[in-house]
Amino acid sequence: MNTENIQTPIQKLGNDKSNTLYIKREDMLPYSFGGNKARKALLFFEEIDRGDYTDVVTYGSSSSNHVRVVANLSAARGMNCHIISPKEASEPTFNSALRELLGAKAVTVPVEEVHDTIEAKLKEIKDRGGRPYFIPGGGHGNIGTQAYVECFEEIKQYETDNNIKFDYIFFASGTGTTHAGLAIGKMLYEDPVKIIGISIARPNPRGRNVVLESVKDYLNDIQNMKLPGNMHSPDRLPSIETIEEAVIFEDKYIGEGYARETSVDIIREVFIKYGIPLDSTYTGKAYNGMCEYIKEHGIKDRNILFIHTGGTPLFFDTLGKL
Ligand SMILES: *Cc1c(COP(=O)(O)O)cnc(C)c1O
Repeated sequence: MNTENIQTPIQKLGNDKSNTLYIKREDMLPYSFGGNKARKALLFFEEIDRGDYTDVVTYGSSSSNHVRVVANLSAARGMNCHIISPKEASEPTFNSALRELLGAKAVTVPVEEVHDTIEAKLKEIKDRGGRPYFIPGGGHGNIGTQAYVECFEEIKQYETDNNIKFDYIFFASGTGTTHAGLAIGKMLYEDPVKIIGISIARPNPRGRNVVLESVKDYLNDIQNMKLPGNMHSPDRLPSIETIEEAVIFEDKYIGEGYARETSVDIIREVFIKYGIPLDSTYTGKAYNGMCEYIKEHGIKDRNILFIHTGGTPLFFDTLGKL
């Protein structure tokens, strides 16, 4: 299957009070229910396909979108897929059912044993003559960041084609690579757009620091990155001040923390109004956070883009509670 050059649509949702709201449908990326984990994992598998690997090892909970996509891409290649999962989040979900369907083997351990279990799994595979490839949880790392530098390029292309300019971009920020990729795109374009990651779990300063680390890791290796479209490797890397200014990580709307049902009202409302499924772990919280942020900051007469980062199976986990 060819998934190169796939772009996701941007839809105009209309005028929400005094701003014009758009949505980029990463959830409609046409592979395994899409989402940002699909965009990232497709790039990881380009690297896997260039190598000679037998097994894929990664980390994620039973509700993980990342695990679903990695299990799917592995199964399609006939590769063994091993998932290390934290016991703390191991209740059955639609994503875990899909993982089982796809034949990925999950090992569930207490969260403090995750690191050692991954090491042991990699060793076990090598000891029996296999060649494992490890994908960090959530598709973290420069390859994951690259996926969202490319996404930023798509957004710029949309602006050019439609003769509009976004003033704000909002989305759910978790492990930081989605956020980092978008912030790097902004800096390379010297674009004034405000990129605001709504934290879905981590408080500041840690949450923001993880994004900053991802930005710096990528910039330090930028010579080896394939920059899309009109982006060029800068002669001088952005200063620390520029980076700090580009990364806005808002931790005010986490609600009761990761995976809690804080956003059912907004999920119901958005589905009824637009026919777009959000979920209670990521996109529902981020959408709600965006609405609150717009109100609190008195934002008016602006073009606002919400990035729907995916998680369609999670919508169905929530459906019974709507
Ligand atoms: C993982 C995930 C996020 C967060 O992405 P990060 O790159 O980890 O910050 C947001 N939305 C959905 C649906 C996700 O699965």
